[in-house]
Amino acid sequence: MKRRDFLRYTTSTVATASLLSATESFAKISIRQSPEIIVVGAGVFGIWTAFYMQELGANVTVIDAYGPGNSRASSGGESRLLRADYGERLLYSRMNIESHSLWDFWQKKWGRQIMYSTGYLKIGDDNYIGSAKAASKRLKAMGISSELLNYEELKYRWPQINFDGLTTGLYYPGGPGGSTLMAREALRLVAEKFQEKGGKLLIGKAKTGEVVNGKIDSVELEDGQKLNADKVIFACGPWMGKIFPELFGDRLDVTRRDVLFIGPRAGDSRYSNPEFPAWSFNNAEDSRYYGFPDIHGRGLKVAPYPDKNEIDMDSDDRLTNPYEIKRVRKFVSRRFPGLADQPITETRVCQITSSFDSHFIVDTHPNADNLWFACAGSGHAFKHGPAIGKYVAQRIIDNKKNEEYDTAFRLKQK
Ligand SMILES: Cc1cc2nc3c(=O)[nH]c(=O)nc-3n(C[C@H](O)[C@H](O)[C@H](O)COP(=O)(O)OP(=O)(O)OC[C@H]3O[C@@H](n4cnc5c(N)ncnc54)[C@H](O)[C@@H]3O)c2cc1C
Repeated sequence: MKRRDFLRYTTSTVATASLLSATESFAKISIRQSPEIIVVGAGVFGIWTAFYMQELGANVTVIDAYGPGNSRASSGGESRLLRADYGERLLYSRMNIESHSLWDFWQKKWGRQIMYSTGYLKIGDDNYIGSAKAASKRLKAMGISSELLNYEELKYRWPQINFDGLTTGLYYPGGPGGSTLMAREALRLVAEKFQEKGGKLLIGKAKTGEVVNGKIDSVELEDGQKLNADKVIFACGPWMGKIFPELFGDRLDVTRRDVLFIGPRAGDSRYSNPEFPAWSFNNAEDSRYYGFPDIHGRGLKVAPYPDKNEIDMDSDDRLTNPYEIKRVRKFVSRRFPGLADQPITETRVCQITSSFDSHFIVDTHPNADNLWFACAGSGHAFKHGPAIGKYVAQRIIDNKKNEEYDTAFRLKQK
């Protein structure tokens, strides 16, 4: 064995062993040569995939057009909700529970808080009682606690909310039932740790090289650089339709989302973590709004669900519009009266990339078996970052099957 090969071999084994101690579900130490991997896209799919591939001993290069957590990326927002309530889609409830423990493990190991146990309150009227009870029972069976609250109890717990016309609350008091991730900060931290361990990060716009004998031969950067790898993963979120129009043009629907932050009065902590939870409404009038408490002084975050629209990720201005401002002000005045006359302190514009069945897509290109896709966050992927990254890494590096995920995430026809 040559010295270089020996070093690769030992690095691979040691790295895999360190992952084993971190997450029990890695059942065996695999002994192999370190494969060369390129991950295109440093959003939540790409960066966690790269991170776990590195943990499995691969030599990984990440390429991102604008950098991890950039303001055009879907993962570049301030905060994202981690919740276990996925209705009957228990796959995602379980994945969320696994992800919560991974986020928690890594934030403790790295000594940086990126997840807050804010709690999550879902509020509705009489029509919500049935589904609230069902969710509470379903999640209790998975070890997630919640409290069913009536109008009086809601008013007593959160006097800063106007509950008029609302009768039912389901409160998840933190942990895997309802926590808040600091999205951009978390993503940049994972990227930093990946680089500290020798991972390469290149800034540039990438495209695939030629497909030769059922394999992609390279990844090309706009400046003409060609990079070779054993396997390539494209994890470019909303850009996937631009990069692979024939595969994702019709499969993915990209929708612009506006996010507004309302700044409370100086010294008013009633809408801030830990006094205020992440929240959503289930009644007809308010169900198009959800949001987060004020964390790190950014203001109460309101994320309205938009009407049908379009966005160009590269060239559109990221400015909110008067229509969204008017909607949000009206909603905030009605439900959070203490913020009625308070200013909008920040806004963001982001985009959701949905598959037709809201499942993620993790699969190979039909004509190149070393070219993979990991995408289609469908508005709910951020929380699953570490669990999905771990799954994709094991699937690609170890060819480890997970029938439930493999079936749900395959590239399907409508
Ligand atoms: C307003 C809003 C609220 C949301 N709320 C939640 C929530 O509460 N909880 C939750 O779990 N999820 C939530 N989501 C969804 C979640 O944020 C996304 O599903 C997730 O971030 C998608 O990540 P991604 O890696 O697929 O894409 P992205 O984060 O967009 O990453 C793609 C990356 O690819 C790069 N790229 C693109 N093209 C190229 C190229 N040719 N070469 C190199 N690099 C390229 C981009 O620069 C980008 O960094 C929300 C999303 C939005 C917009």
